[in-house]
Amino acid sequence: MYRGAFAVVDLEAVRHNVRVVKSRLGAQTRLMVAVKADGYGHGAVPVARAALSAGATDLGVATVEEAIELRQAGVRAPVLVLGAVSPQAAREAARQGVAVTLTDDWSRNPPAPFDACLDVHLKVDTGMNRLGFRDIGELVRVARWVAARPDMRLAGVFTHLAVADAADTSHAERQMRQFQAALGALAEAGLRPPLAHAANSAAALRFPAWQFDMVRLGISAYGYQPNPALALPVPLRPALHLYAFITRLCDIEPGETVGYGATFVARRRTRIATVPVGYADGYPRWLSNRGCALVRGHRVPVAGRVCMDQLMLDVTDVPGVQAGDCVTLYGRQAPGSWRADGFQGLEAAAQEAWIRTGFRAAGGDGSEAGDGTGAGDGAWLSLDELAQIGQTISYELMCALSPRIPRVYV
Ligand SMILES: *Cc1c(COP(=O)(O)O)cnc(C)c1O
Repeated sequence: MYRGAFAVVDLEAVRHNVRVVKSRLGAQTRLMVAVKADGYGHGAVPVARAALSAGATDLGVATVEEAIELRQAGVRAPVLVLGAVSPQAAREAARQGVAVTLTDDWSRNPPAPFDACLDVHLKVDTGMNRLGFRDIGELVRVARWVAARPDMRLAGVFTHLAVADAADTSHAERQMRQFQAALGALAEAGLRPPLAHAANSAAALRFPAWQFDMVRLGISAYGYQPNPALALPVPLRPALHLYAFITRLCDIEPGETVGYGATFVARRRTRIATVPVGYADGYPRWLSNRGCALVRGHRVPVAGRVCMDQLMLDVTDVPGVQAGDCVTLYGRQAPGSWRADGFQGLEAAAQEAWIRTGFRAAGGDGSEAGDGTGAGDGAWLSLDELAQIGQTISYELMCALSPRIPRVYV
């Protein structure tokens, strides 16, 4: 790590979040953790292992490639590809022992027999209008066709809710009635797939009656509420934290500007800190002149445009600020012991150990590590707060974190 920019992924937080959600589920209810998009940017394999060790039973991914990555890392738990797959992709999934989602009627042009038994979950479109069978008659016909194939197994049936996180629950209720109707029609046809599932994080936390045989947990495993405006009283701990050391400090005079386009104009004598993280690292350019960061416990604004590899902060109001101080771009305030001079002389493994020790020492057992509601008391900078500036969601910021940022797992 030569640049002095890194993310901390707190796997103990992931385990905590999984345990908290699991404690709200029925004893028989399975818990799938969605690790698509490289585990929402956290790292699919480490998150999968942490989640499974805390009681998750299943993993969800978007693509067969993502499933293969888990299998190649030796992860043996049940994996379901949640996105649409071609018969060719399904063939590889069968070889890998990975279940797929069937969203179309394959009986019209049946694929050649699979080498190994393919587990299939049928997707019912109950109102998201994205993927799946809209017509219950067609669903039942395809379910019969799957059940009759010796090389395929009807392993599940599921739907996805479009509005599980809003105060108004009418849309979700309409979808659930449609899902119940689909399950009823399958049962009438003598088909009862072993796993019915519908709930994402929001539904799993809000509606115990919608847990069915399994819930599919995504954002809440990573410590964030699906909708911060409707925060639920669940003690989640954010897992992702982004830090970088100040590379340079300089004082500019009133009237001088900062960065491309000269969009920041100093109104007073201003102290500018340069930070080696930019939009190529997943720190979005729309946070130019709008984002904030924590320096020595102070909330400071982004000054000027976010560059590709760097950004600048106005640290005029931070007493004692020095080059080499550690900036918190989001997550828990960096420990005071984190300074570039203590870090940069170390070898890679020692750097990681140094980060791990400092993070744990500052957070104790993590129990005071915040609630992810964005209440920001200076010790925390929530992704929800940054997301809100760009009218987006924490999900997008997590997934944006580039592979160029080294992840340190604590
Ligand atoms: C990603 C995903 C989830 C998890 O959603 P969260 O809102 O992150 O909990 C659940 N179900 C499906 C089908 C998904 O693609």
